Amino acid sequence: MPRSLAHGDYRLMMAVESASRANSWYRVLVDHRSGQLSCDCPAWTFRQNARTSGTERSCKHTHIAQPLMNAEGGVNVRLAGLPVERASGAAAENHRLVQATRQQWPGLGGRWSFEQRTSNIDNQPYHFVHLHLTTGNGTTATGLVAFARRYHPTTESMVSGVAGWAGYAIAAEIARTAGYTLAGQPPEHFKVTRRTTTTPGRHLGLTDILRVGDQVDLGDGYTPTQRAENTLRLFLGETLYAQLERQHFLDVSSVRYAHERRVYRIRRDPAKQRERRVRLFIDGQYTQDLCIVRGQDVPEADHWMTNFLTLLSDEERALSVVQSYNIFPPHSDDYYEREEETVPAVWMPCVA
Ligand SMILES: [Zn+2]
Repeated sequence: MPRSLAHGDYRLMMAVESASRANSWYRVLVDHRSGQLSCDCPAWTFRQNARTSGTERSCKHTHIAQPLMNAEGGVNVRLAGLPVERASGAAAENHRLVQATRQQWPGLGGRWSFEQRTSNIDNQPYHFVHLHLTTGNGTTATGLVAFARRYHPTTESMVSGVAGWAGYAIAAEIARTAGYTLAGQPPEHFKVTRRTTTTPGRHLGLTDILRVGDQVDLGDGYTPTQRAENTLRLFLGETLYAQLERQHFLDVSSVRYAHERRVYRIRRDPAKQRERRVRLFIDGQYTQDLCIVRGQDVPEADHWMTNFLTLLSDEERALSVVQSYNIFPPHSDDYYEREEETVPAVWMPCVA
């Protein structure tokens, strides 16, 4: 799969709030090929000659992140610092921070755990929140957010940041593991101060998608439908989003039914109104339609994204809601004209 040359191939390892500006975030990224960390704080950005002077390019944020990094570029289960709270399984799922993340990224399925610790960065007190998901498909993904305690003293004040940053990192890693390396490029900064939403061609940022906590209404005038579309577009990235717009589907290769080279073709209504049935391919042959019913009052883009993330993360759970009366013969929802399949559905193994 081609990778974005413009943006490189990065994974968001940690988001760190500025110690001097509330809700201004630095992104610590891992270069997938070299394993090198980068940061967009001024110290790292301007230290461009570090390599030639014989030292590794770094900043206080990459210093914090480096020892936490595991072999996959994710975060170790154990953080440093004083433990505040930790939970796993059902207790984690019922925790406000995990709930908000699942609300923001519906469809992510598996066993959640989370941990919060306090520690200092450069003598400034910080909260570290670490989310971990072992998916039903058997892969793992992590998200780590460091909040300046002076700006985010309470759990509730951290809800948007955790759902936005940690949730994004987890969803991105799951898409990447399933072969969608173009999805989940690290998002823009949390706060967009130098641009306005009216600028044509402006890149979407996390502010354009967040819908949790007390920051639902950011005064940007987005409706839930627009916000859901923004989420899909930001997460997929321009190339994949354009592909979805053009062909009206993306394929997900089965993990559970790898032996039959099963592919789920997750289709999208060109008019972005009604839900379309998922087309099932076995060894390249279109065999069935699966009806995954949309939840009440959920924007169509949300429904599509939910199906996409559910099949990527927890195929068994996705299939468990498809009862026998929701399985149909091919072309069962070709309402207006027969929609033939012209693009081969090619099964690909999981890259993990
Ligand atoms: Zn930095």
